[in-house]
Amino acid sequence: MKKELIGLGFDDLKKELVSLGEQPFRAKQLWHWIYHKGETDFFKMTTLAKPFQSRLNELYTVTHPKIVTEQNSVDGTRKWLMEFADEKQVECVYIPESDRGAVCISTQVGCAQGCRFCHTGTQKMMRNLTAGEIVGQFMSARDSYGEWPTPTDETRYLSNIVVMGMGEPLCNFENLKTALLIATNGDGLSVSKRRVTVSTSGIAPYIPQLADLGVKLAVSLHAPNNEIRSQIMPVNRKYPLEVLIEACKEYQKRCERRQFITMEYVLLKDINDQPKHAEELMKLVDGLEVKFNLIPFHYWEGAPFEPSSNNAIHRFAKILESHYFAAPIRRSRGEDIMAACGQLKSIKGKM
Ligand code: SAH
Ligand code: SF4
Repeated sequence: MKKELIGLGFDDLKKELVSLGEQPFRAKQLWHWIYHKGETDFFKMTTLAKPFQSRLNELYTVTHPKIVTEQNSVDGTRKWLMEFADEKQVECVYIPESDRGAVCISTQVGCAQGCRFCHTGTQKMMRNLTAGEIVGQFMSARDSYGEWPTPTDETRYLSNIVVMGMGEPLCNFENLKTALLIATNGDGLSVSKRRVTVSTSGIAPYIPQLADLGVKLAVSLHAPNNEIRSQIMPVNRKYPLEVLIEACKEYQKRCERRQFITMEYVLLKDINDQPKHAEELMKLVDGLEVKFNLIPFHYWEGAPFEPSSNNAIHRFAKILESHYFAAPIRRSRGEDIMAACGQLKSIKGKM
């Protein structure tokens, strides 16, 4: 079987070529074709000598995840079902803002965390994605919008990456790290680190390492105390709030510049949406620099919760705001195509 080149970090690509007896500078040329131009056909890489092209073609492939279906929402959100070599699939979403936007990518097929409000969580964990499959989703999204070669940061449409799709990114940390190093490499895809956000359910030991990668952190907090959190998120039994908050403090300490953490909070009717919960929440984050992101619960069939009323959501936001916390209510995007938070699901036959 031919070896896939997407997903090898720059140094590993160099080693690979040197092992073939090629000069190290060839790695730079090849990197440019793969990640700046988005080329997948070695024979179209015209700056490479013909025999080198043939050699590469014998041994390697450059594959972007296959786009199986594409759906466009009335609000401009675009969702793809993407498929990998073993026919496993994930969903990937582009969420446009006024002149740019974020590609929401997945890190696992399924998820083992089993958060009770999450549709993905009801799906069996199938496997981790490779580094190439993680960064490949962004590349296929670029294919879909024709954004090759890599445009300048100012003119590109797909400007941000949010790791908020299927799976728990920090349970696949090494592959995530390699993928993000490739995505942010200035000679290729060139996504600015400051435009990358990783969202975690709270796998505490890896959180500080995100600071070393220079990317933003979002935490799926969703509860003001251990009692409620353990009830809706099993991960809290392993990493309870005091451990999670400590990891967040360490993240902020390690960040090069002042960096707010986004605390995501999905509002579940009568579970975590009362004024006393807002009060408790503010005490919990004392000592951290945070902004909240209030997420209306997206109902899916069979979900054991109901969405909070608009009134309850606004009442909750007002309490936080009156204490000078940013607490925007996340607008639902792509709900008509089941692309909104927590609605992604892709195991064949179960859609
Ligand atoms: N696994 C990661 C990232 C993916 S989930 C994490 O849990 O952080 C992206 C966000 O959507 C998370 O904050 C998640 O808690 C939230 N979410 C999950 N199910 C949801 C639902 N049904 N309605 C609204 N938000 C949901
Ligand atoms: Fe997994 Fe995140 Fe869903 Fe929890 S919210 S089940 S961690 S994808």
